[in-house]
Order: sequence, then structure tokens, then C-alpha cells
Amino acid sequence: MTDNLRTLLFDQAACRAQIVRLDKAWKTVVSHHNYPQPVLEILGHLVAASALLSASLKFEGSLILQIQGDGPVRLMVAECTNELHVRATVKLAEDSLIAPDADFTSLLNGTGKGLCALILDPKNRLPGQQAYQGVVPLEGKNIAESLQAYMKSSEQLDTRLHLFANEETVSGVLIQQMPKDGGHAPENFDADGWDRLIALSATTTAEEMLKLPMADMCYRLFTDMSPNILAERTVEFQCTCSRKKVARMLLGLGQTEVDATLQEHPHITVHCDFCNSAYVFTEKQCQELFSNDQDLDPPDEELPEDANVVADLSREGKPPTLH
Ligand SMILES: [Zn+2]
Repeated sequence: MTDNLRTLLFDQAACRAQIVRLDKAWKTVVSHHNYPQPVLEILGHLVAASALLSASLKFEGSLILQIQGDGPVRLMVAECTNELHVRATVKLAEDSLIAPDADFTSLLNGTGKGLCALILDPKNRLPGQQAYQGVVPLEGKNIAESLQAYMKSSEQLDTRLHLFANEETVSGVLIQQMPKDGGHAPENFDADGWDRLIALSATTTAEEMLKLPMADMCYRLFTDMSPNILAERTVEFQCTCSRKKVARMLLGLGQTEVDATLQEHPHITVHCDFCNSAYVFTEKQCQELFSNDQDLDPPDEELPEDANVVADLSREGKPPTLH
């Protein structure tokens, strides 16, 4: 089944909807890790939301949703580019015990210190250009409520989100009021349209949204309002990690720290949190890196045999680490 995202336009109500359904991309995200069930569901909601929000923005680059938790889940990240390439990861607290029925608040916001961040990282960032970052306290009892609160506090556009996830599939609906050009309502403006859309989208159930194909989902939800299909696009898993980025990270750590690691280990292996790829740098390659930091692409044939292999799956949720 294709992973896709459909944009619907409700012309007379001056509203639009995004609907997403991911199977393959979601299974790829979770195949790299072994998340406890309640964590997996929340991450699925965040992945669906990242695709829905990315599709609703006119922005070239990555939209990153980051939840910083105060409980067993320390960090949860979902990223979606304007080309609808998604990736996601979770960092759990060391030795965390997560009950099968653990809820959103106990996992992420038990003491009310959780944070919700939305980052827009431009595709071709100019030197000195910063990514946009908005951070608000984590609110609500799920990802949808947290992001609605975020949108309300930071944007003028009224937004509603409904998100669903299990091990196989994630799906979601976003409805949004569109800015009225110059304050003029469209001809034959449907003044009750927004309220009807809110009511219709609230009738979504996990059972339907995780089973029905896209066309059936849209028909079931919105056919009474005769929307136009504005776009239908494919969503894919894709990780943007690279050997060059890892080399830059090692340069950022500095030679002293890299040398200290090499005292204890024959080479340095850096794992990508998102796709679990492992990047290996031998002592010689590290020396070359620091002696000539312009050349960040050592030839592949110099790598040891275990370079760029998919790493041990027990390392899930940890930041890039040296070992
Ligand atoms: Zn990666």
C-alpha cells in the first residue's frame, strides 16, 4: 500500500484538510528500534503530525517536532522535509521501566516540565542563518492536544489534529482555517463550514483511520462538504545522515576528546539515532580529519569491513556516542 498524504480544499468554507496514512515508512521507522508499545504509539502520532504540518507549510527544508520529556521518555523527535521524507527517534531515560498502559503524561510530562518545540530548518541554510525554533510548555494529554496548543499560542490559524498509530500504521487528519485574502470572504462563503469540519473530523476513530484506504477515509469524513483534491503526494522514510556530517561532528568534538576515545578503542564508531547506521573512523582517518578538515570524504576502500553496517539493535534511543 502506498504511503501518501492528500490535501483537500474546502473553497467556500476557506478551510483545508491534510490526511496522511503511512504503512511502509512507519514500519521502517520502528524497525530500527525496539520501543515499548505506549512509546511507539506516541511516536507514531508525532510522525503523522510532522508530515501533516510540513505539508501545510510553504517552506523548503525540514520541519522537526521535538518533545522534551521529564519522565521515562527524555526526547522524542520526528522530522519531515518539504519532499515528505520522514524519520524519527526516541531517547529513553537510562534503566526506564515503562508499563504497557503508561500514558502520555506519565511518560513525558509527569512534573509538568515537558517542552514542545517546532523547528524549521531551511534546506540550503546560508552561512550564519539560524533555524527557526519555537518552544512552548507541553500541554494536553496527547500529541494532538499539545500541538494544537502550540499552534494556538504561536500562529493565527485555527488548527485541529486527530492522530492515530499502531505497530503497522500511522494516520492523521489536520484541518485548518485559511487566511482570508485581504479580509475578504470567498463568494458564497459558508460561514458554518469550519464548525462542520471540526464536527466531522472529530468523528474519526482509530479503527477506521488505521484500516481504511485514503480514498475511503476522505469519503467517509468529508464527502458531504464536496472538497477538491488539491494534491496527493507520496511519503517516504529517508535518513539524512552521512559520513560527511559525522566527520563534521567529530571535528566539532575536538581532537582532544577524539584522541581520548582512541586511547580506549581501536576506532571510533558513531551510530545514527534515526536509522541505526554505523559510521566507523579508524585512528588514521581521524588523524587525517584533523590535519585537513577540508577533506571530509575519505575513500570508502580505506574503511574497515564493518563500516556503514546496520548496528546492534539494542542501542535504540541513544544519542550519537563514541565507542
Ligand atoms: Zn541515519
